[in-house]
This record gives sequence, structure tokens and C-alpha cells, in this order.
Amino acid sequence: MTEHLMETYARLPVAFVRGEGAWLWDEQGRRYLDALAGIGVCALGHAHPRVTEALCRQAATLVHTSNLYRIPLQEELAARLCRLTGMERAFFCNSGAEANEAAIKLARRLGNTRGVEQPAVVVAQGAFHGRTLATLTATGNRRVQAGFEPLVPGFVRVPYNDLEALEAVARNRQDVVAVLLEPVQGEGGVVVPDEDYLPGVRALCDRQGWLLMLDEVQTGMGRTGSWLACQRQGVLPDVVTLAKALGNGFPIGACLARGAAAEVLGPGSHASTFGGNPLACAAALAVLEVMEAEALAEHAARLGGRLLAGLQEALLGRPGVLAVRGCGLMLGIELDRPCGELVMRALERGVLLNVTAERVLRLLPPLILTEEEAARLQEAVRELVEEALAAGEGRA
Ligand SMILES: *Cc1c(COP(=O)(O)O)cnc(C)c1O
Repeated sequence: MTEHLMETYARLPVAFVRGEGAWLWDEQGRRYLDALAGIGVCALGHAHPRVTEALCRQAATLVHTSNLYRIPLQEELAARLCRLTGMERAFFCNSGAEANEAAIKLARRLGNTRGVEQPAVVVAQGAFHGRTLATLTATGNRRVQAGFEPLVPGFVRVPYNDLEALEAVARNRQDVVAVLLEPVQGEGGVVVPDEDYLPGVRALCDRQGWLLMLDEVQTGMGRTGSWLACQRQGVLPDVVTLAKALGNGFPIGACLARGAAAEVLGPGSHASTFGGNPLACAAALAVLEVMEAEALAEHAARLGGRLLAGLQEALLGRPGVLAVRGCGLMLGIELDRPCGELVMRALERGVLLNVTAERVLRLLPPLILTEEEAARLQEAVRELVEEALAAGEGRA
């Protein structure tokens, strides 16, 4: 009965009642291998005992007090996230879009304090930053924006993975204060830029006095094989946003910053009633503890590397397969045709995965995935893609 829900999602005809690790069970007791993890959220898998325990203990102690008071768990979480990311200060909120809103507001405020009239933020084609008005404007996908005009002013669009385009912006505009990018585009189709792109953007930002703001909402928290995806290229941004896996399903987002960017939001300039409450912070601290203790970023790098190589061996070179790419456990298989129906076919086989940018089959399994589960997933994906391509030929 979905008639009382706004139809913002075309939901699949299944409801899950229980989860454990990389597996979910539906109302009929059927088991599914979850290679989407709640869209990159449940990195520790479902019902992780350490997270469950932290949530239960904190819920029985203190859920919420508001940011009018000190919240020791929030201070501890901020310190740990700053240590892991090289940032200096954190602002906590409840989602990825909110974390990016904070980043955009921070950039504008810094621009305004520096006397830049109408400060602008550079964003990329194919980007996804969320669904609030500012973040859907920053998103580089017309389908996300259509019907919500007027959009928010103050954004400049460039092609992704194109340093020359950014340099042209630097030559032609005086109003830019920041660049906001995903280190690997997620919703845009698992687009991995060239190795020298992010370092090039960093150098340009340094030269121009622009903030480099990285949206690591999907790529962060070990997903791509390091804490932050940008750490693989040795790039230190000025601002980083996190959300998705930060609470393993408990809603929490963070906007982290260093240097001048860390000082720009003072009392009264930004706020969140729920942001960083004791329950959310207890969940996130448990997530960090498990990820560090079990070296899950390293595991994601190793297992993801093998899975990528296996999928490339199985699928690359087949007519219809344009690319098999990704890093860590963020993988995409780009076909030459729309393949949305693969999601339902996979569901019927007991595998949860996703298609993004119409033609890219996307895998975001939990980082606790085992070798055997990865092998099973690889085999299922190979069969699904083969079937889809064969069916396409039949129709043609
Ligand atoms: C999911 C996502 C967001 C939006 O996060 P919400 O929690 O849905 O607001 C923003 N940026 C990126 C890169 C994402 O993948």
C-alpha cells in the first residue's frame, strides 16, 4: 500500500525484513546478496553487532540534547574524522545534501568576507550533490533540475576530468571562490578521472586562491580503498563532505574543513537541530572503530581490485560492454544501451544492484564482503550482463 506515499521513487516490488552482513531477507524468507548496501550506506553490512550495540546503549542513555550544549561524543567524532582526513573542524548534519549545502554556504561566506561580489562555485557536468535547491543546482543532470526552476544562481559548470576547462574559467572569471567535485562521480556512472586530474585541480585552486571542496559522500569512508578517495592521489582538499556510510544507516552527514574554510562559519551563521546528536555520533564512532580495527579500506582496495580484474576479464571486449571501471568497492559496468531492467532481473536471481546514468550497472557492496561473496557476485553479474546483451541482439 503505497497510495499515501508521494511517488518520489519507483519502488521495486519487494520489502526486506531482516539483514545480516551482506545479506537481506524478504517477507517470504528469501535471501538476497546485497551489492548495493542501501546505496553505499551500509558499509559494515546489515545489523553489524558493534553498531547495533552502540545504538542501543546510547538510545537507552541519551538520544538528543541539541547543539545549544556541548556534546562530548560529537567532539570525539570530529577529532577522529579530522585526524583521518587531515581536516581541522567539522560541522555535523543529517545527510549528504545538507553536508554539501554547508560547503556551498561556507564558500559563499568566505567569498563575501573577501569582498567577492556574487561569489560563484565551479561544478562539473555529470555531478550529483543532492536534492535540495542549491545541491540540485550544483548537480550536473538536467533530469534532477527540471521543473524546479528558478535554480540557485552562483554556479559555473565545466566538463568533468577536463583541467583545460577549469583553466579557462580561471582566465575568464573573477567571481569564483571554490570548486566542488566528486573524486569519482557516483550517480554520474562511476566515472573515474585521470590520475593527474585531482592534483591538477588542487594546483589550480592553490594558484587562484579557490577552495577545493570534495564531495566524498559516496566515495569516502573507505569505499574506494582509502579513507577518502582523494588520498589515493595524495590530494588534500580544503573542504570535504561525508554522509552515506558514516552512520552505517543511521542518518548523519559532516562537512569538514581546514585553514580559512574551517573558521568562516561562526555562531549563528549555520545550524542544524538534529546535527551530530549523541545517538548519531555514537553510531558513527562505532563505524570508525570497526573500519579501523578491521582495516576495511585496505580490504576494499584488495577485494575491489580483484573483483574489478575478474569482471574485466569476464566482460571486456564483448560487444555491448563499453567499460568496466571503478576503484575499491565502487564499480561500474557501462553498456552501449540502457539497462535499467537489469535491476529487476538481478532481484529475481537474489542479487541487489543498481543501474545509474541509464547504462551503467553499479556495484556498491558492503566493505565487509568476503571473497566467496565477491566470487558469487562476479558470476551473477557476468550472467546478467551476458543475458542482457543476448536479449538486445534478439530484439535488434
Ligand atoms: C548520495 C549523494 C549525495 C546526497 O546525499 P543525501 O544523503 O541523499 O542527501 C550527495 N553527493 C553524492 C556524491 C552522493 O552520492
